[in-house]
Amino acid sequence: MQACFCFHGDLSFLLRPRWRTTRQIVLPMTRAASIKDAIEAFGPPHTEIGDIVCNGRPVDFSWPVQAGQQFDLYPVTSPWDVTRPSFLRPVPLPALAFLADGSVGRLARLLRMAGFDTRYHPSWQASDLLDIVIREPRVLLSRNLDLLKRKQVIFGRAIRAETGLAQLREVLALFGITELAQALSRCLDCNAPLEPVEKTRILHRLEPLTRRYFEAFRLCRSCDRIYWAGSHVDGMRRLLFA
Ligand SMILES: [Zn+2]
Repeated sequence: MQACFCFHGDLSFLLRPRWRTTRQIVLPMTRAASIKDAIEAFGPPHTEIGDIVCNGRPVDFSWPVQAGQQFDLYPVTSPWDVTRPSFLRPVPLPALAFLADGSVGRLARLLRMAGFDTRYHPSWQASDLLDIVIREPRVLLSRNLDLLKRKQVIFGRAIRAETGLAQLREVLALFGITELAQALSRCLDCNAPLEPVEKTRILHRLEPLTRRYFEAFRLCRSCDRIYWAGSHVDGMRRLLFA
């Protein structure tokens, strides 16, 4: 006896090459498996799944796959509001916040530049990242599918785009973000919120041109780095939303 799997939307992008062009995957059931394990054996991490329908009714990741069942797998769709409970993820996040691994370091800095709370350190290993998402639930961003398949990861995104800016665009589109209201509110190096600082207090640390052309400054209380609204934020806005 067999079970039948149909991956919808852009999930086919994540299927292993041998399955990518198959609309309906029909497999003999040789061993007991949950639908989470079955989905991930085909390629896509569970983090990418928005709905699982078995013989016409929704089921969760622990559902045991049995012969004769037909599964329709649907991707998470935009705009994804992670602060609302859903059937597959009944405990929502308190707010949209990210954790990035070493495969998307450039994206992590761009997200901070755009003002999003994004934890990242280039030396963090898988065990460090999993410890963090357990203690402090966040959306894990990665290109490492095996990491996203770990059961500790509830919210995640397998980043498809190749370059940092395209990846930022991908994340903003997924979460339905159309403006950068919080740009330049976080330190690019340590993710700490920035605070306004009087120009007179930091005057001695500014380059002559910065001193002449800028009036509003912010300071990272954690690492003491100074920020001002330079052209990079405007440039990023133009590239993203033009
Ligand atoms: Zn800092």
